[in-house]
Amino acid sequence: MRSLNSILVTGGAGFIGSTLVRKLLERPEVESLVVLDALTYAGNRGNLVGSDRDPRFHFVEGNILDRELVTRLLQEFKCTGVMHLAAESHVDRSIARPAEFTIANIGGTAVILEATRDLKVPLLQCSTDEVYGPIPFPKQADESQKLKPSSPYSASKAGADLLVQAAHITYGQDVVIARCTNNYGPRQHPEKLIPRMIYQALRDAPLPVYGSGRQIRDWIHVDDCALGLIATFEKGFPNRVYHLGAKCERTNLGIIRTILKQLHKPESLMTHVEDRLGHDDRYALNVRLALVELEWRARIPFRSGFEAAVREMSQTLRPSED
Ligand code: NAD
Repeated sequence: MRSLNSILVTGGAGFIGSTLVRKLLERPEVESLVVLDALTYAGNRGNLVGSDRDPRFHFVEGNILDRELVTRLLQEFKCTGVMHLAAESHVDRSIARPAEFTIANIGGTAVILEATRDLKVPLLQCSTDEVYGPIPFPKQADESQKLKPSSPYSASKAGADLLVQAAHITYGQDVVIARCTNNYGPRQHPEKLIPRMIYQALRDAPLPVYGSGRQIRDWIHVDDCALGLIATFEKGFPNRVYHLGAKCERTNLGIIRTILKQLHKPESLMTHVEDRLGHDDRYALNVRLALVELEWRARIPFRSGFEAAVREMSQTLRPSED
């Protein structure tokens, strides 16, 4: 088992990162937790309210591309592990500005690898099901599936994963990769599908649906995903890939209809718009290895988890009265 004694979380002010921080602080073995986050447009210090009252918690605003800073933090906090989540994460933005994604996601991971290599600190790389490209129904990708990313975002994540694996082969670095499916839950940036649809619906504004809306994603509650990341870090075999999914396939159209129903809004608010370039029609992961080797599985049922998440997000996204 890798030690949770002192953990550096990159991207901890983001959606999944801030949930991971909460879950790590629930563990008594964690004596020190430092978040390194550049607070890009996607990072929000407010996501860490509550966690930041814990005396074990430290926040450092800075960039993962800053090699000296990363090394200094690993030394200063005597880190026993890095959980690397910092990334540019929005596919649409990657289509508009692919170079930024290459620098942050591949360049940033290269820096994290160098710093952890020098100080022999184990690394968890947080990756995505999108690296495999579309998976035809009814197949599920297993961990040996060929990488075939379609978007600049997924290509940059695939590139980062390959660097992580090469670091193990070349230098014997202790690394492990978790590939997660689509997360839902509180604190997600309003540009992403679910909060965006809630935001629009609450204002009786059109809900833009890419193409037919029949694209299929596997949805996992962010709490389950965070626990899966911890299990992968603690128990995952070096240089192995683990799939964190909930076996909960839904079309985007289905997700949007569920939101509208819960908010008592008419389906006529849905407006089909031109499809996203290179839009993958389905992602699906086989999660058996995570169950067998990590003793982890997603536990939150979609129906209740999603309903609670929509309720919680509606409160923060509601139009103000004044
Ligand atoms: P997010 O966009 O909400 O958060 C990313 C965080 O990283 C932000 O706080 C941002 O400020 C920070 N960041 C970005 N570039 C940085 C840099 N150069 N230096 C330091 N900090 C930087 O993303 P998220 O949805 O929480 O995703 C977290 C990780 O999980 C990413 O690696 C993403 O690829 C992966 N992932 C996300 C999902 C999902 O459904 N959200 C699914 C699979 C994998």
